[in-house]
Amino acid sequence: MRTASLLLVLSFAPATLVAQGNPNPVPRDPSQWPQHSMDRPRPPVVMPGPVGTSTPPSDAIVLFDGHGLEAWRSTNPTAGPAPWRVTRGYFEVAPGTGGIATRERFGDVQLHIEWSSPTEAGDSGQDRGNSGVFLMGRYEVQVLDSWENPTYADGQAGSIYGQFPPAVNPIRAPGEWNSYDIVFHRPRFDGQGRVTTPGRVTLFFNGVLVHDEQVIIGPTSHGRRSAYETHDGALPISLQDHGHKVRFRSVWVRRLEPTAP
Ligand code: MG
Repeated sequence: MRTASLLLVLSFAPATLVAQGNPNPVPRDPSQWPQHSMDRPRPPVVMPGPVGTSTPPSDAIVLFDGHGLEAWRSTNPTAGPAPWRVTRGYFEVAPGTGGIATRERFGDVQLHIEWSSPTEAGDSGQDRGNSGVFLMGRYEVQVLDSWENPTYADGQAGSIYGQFPPAVNPIRAPGEWNSYDIVFHRPRFDGQGRVTTPGRVTLFFNGVLVHDEQVIIGPTSHGRRSAYETHDGALPISLQDHGHKVRFRSVWVRRLEPTAP
């Protein structure tokens, strides 16, 4: 009887609380706001300082210096050369070709990347200047044209997608260059695949702090919460093809831990 009662209780437990075949729980909402809520207050607009560009420090691994995409490959199963367009010191998403990922793998990093949204009139919300920086291919710092373009707060530029809005919105107008300076600490897992330390992100967006050691609650995803799943200590950084001609330049990274085997 007791067993039957227990089974009854378990059968009515919310399915989202248990990740199938995974020792890590599906995370609950980190705030009082449902994911992608349009009612969640949008971060206040802040005007950043003037546009600049960055020169990498001597110990950086340069992932793009204005010339070629040799450091990148396609995320398609073929893993062939990165098919995006390189021109005049930047590279641009080639819509429909899929994402690109670094050939090298990284764990904890300092990452600098500059990006610019298309200037042609597009749609609105998430369908305008959308791309993304995927740390370890799993944890997205959103790239979006958030200049006078309302969308849900946890999906605008500088958000940890679907989880945490940036503290403020310091974006520049479409066609101008924005910068992200990211400090990322990867999640740690024990031998059973349980997360022991979640991932953390600090983000300077156009020089303005918008995330300060923000704990990531799991892989970022659209319309659902995803549980952490154990993965290697070093994985490629990838950039998203969301169908928009977002441009990137001056991409460099510094390892913050010894190179994983
Ligand atoms: Mg995106």
